[in-house]
Parts: sequence; structure tokens; C-alpha cells
Amino acid sequence: MFIAANWKMNLDKKSILEFSKHLQEFKFSNKVKACIFPPMTYIDYLNNLVANLPISVGGQNCHFNFSGAYTGEVSPIFLKDIGCEYVIVGHSERRTLNNENDYDVMLRSQSAINANLKVILCVGESLVERKKGEALNFIEKQLLASTPKNFENSLIAYEPLWSIGTGNIPSMTEIQEMHEHIAQIINHITNKKIKILYGGSVNVDNITDILNIKNVDGVLVGGASLKAKDFLAIYTAAVKKTYNF
Ligand code: PEP
Repeated sequence: MFIAANWKMNLDKKSILEFSKHLQEFKFSNKVKACIFPPMTYIDYLNNLVANLPISVGGQNCHFNFSGAYTGEVSPIFLKDIGCEYVIVGHSERRTLNNENDYDVMLRSQSAINANLKVILCVGESLVERKKGEALNFIEKQLLASTPKNFENSLIAYEPLWSIGTGNIPSMTEIQEMHEHIAQIINHITNKKIKILYGGSVNVDNITDILNIKNVDGVLVGGASLKAKDFLAIYTAAVKKTYNF
């Protein structure tokens, strides 16, 4: 089971220090993996604060080259260098706001894996595709075009665009259907069993239902991961699920 916290462009140094105090007081389980994706500037800071805990840190994006004249970009090598284990690639906010297409996402993922990072590759349909009944086809195309050949030790995050930050989530049947579909396609592409996370308005109230869905191996949490109390409640729900409490 995997709980990923995407802080996006939120939380400054002082808030991160406060957050880390709650993490220090918490008893983590070796059954549930936690990874936090802070703003790039604080990855190193957070990593040092949680060095004694079983928590990984990761980047929210990386470039497809290891170095070069790319002002404002971050190399996967640098993320690895400062202790990142994971990197999120193809988040819908980057696809939409930074015009990253499937080919970019494929190159960035490939480069990250070559730098020995584990990728969380995000896919997700818009409300238009969902309403037209084209969600399954859309995700299939997105996976075929954005999964690199060397995809290993990595995960897929299914994040419907219309669910991110909106409080609206697909029905449990829709999530199950999509995760089953993704599991088949990604197995076909990679010949491996790849873990699939659900992301989109996950919170303390819906986490248990979501984790009970077949083929949901964890969650990628945005807004609800900004408060330590909520993040840890979500983590605790995953631990309970693992032990079948
Ligand atoms: C996200 O940005 O990946 C996300 C899932 O956000 P939220 O949980 O706020 O919907």
C-alpha cells in the first residue's frame, strides 16, 4: 500500500518544520509506504527532517535531460542526488498549465528511471471524455503514448482531471473499472505487475472506501495532505486496510 502526498506549490519552511513534528510523533508501519512531494526548494530540508523515519521524498516533476541549458528546470540526476526516491511525472496540472504532452511525459519518465528514480506516472481523463463515455479509450491512448519502454519499479496514478481539487470523485464502480482497465494495459505494455494509485479529492472520509476497491494499491493525495493530521489519518486507514481491521 502506498500513500503519496503531493504538496504542489504549498507549505513554506516554517510550515514544513511544524508538519515534521507531527510525523516524528507518529508510529509508521512497514506495511504502508509514505512518500511526500514538497516544493522543489524544500526537498532537501524535508528529507533531513524525516531522515530517521521510514518516509521517502520525491520531486513533483523532472526534465528529460540530465543537464543543459534549461533555465528553471530540474534534472532527475539532481533529484536523486539530494535523496529523492520518487518523482511525479505527467501530473495533469503540468500537462495543462505547462503544455506537457504524452511524448514529453514518456521522455521525462524514461530519463527519471535512467537516473534510478521511481516514477509515479499520472494519467486522467477530462469531464468531456468521461461524459462522452470515452474515458477508458482515452486512458488507454494516454498510457500507450506516455509509458517508456524502461518502465520499472514505478507506479501509475489514475487522476481524473475533473476530480482533482474539486471534491467530486468517480463512483466506486467507475474507479474499479478504470483501475482494472489500467492494470490490463500496463501489464500488456510492460509485462509486469505495476501498482496503481487513485488520485482526486481523496480525504479522511472517503479513503477507506477507495482503498477497498480492487486494484487500488494506494492513493496520491493533494489538498488533504497539507494538514499533518489528515495525512496521518489517511495513512492510518491504509494501515488498517493492510491488516484487515
Ligand atoms: C493531485 O493534485 O494529485 C490531487 C489528487 O489533488 P487533490 O487531492 O487535492 O484532489
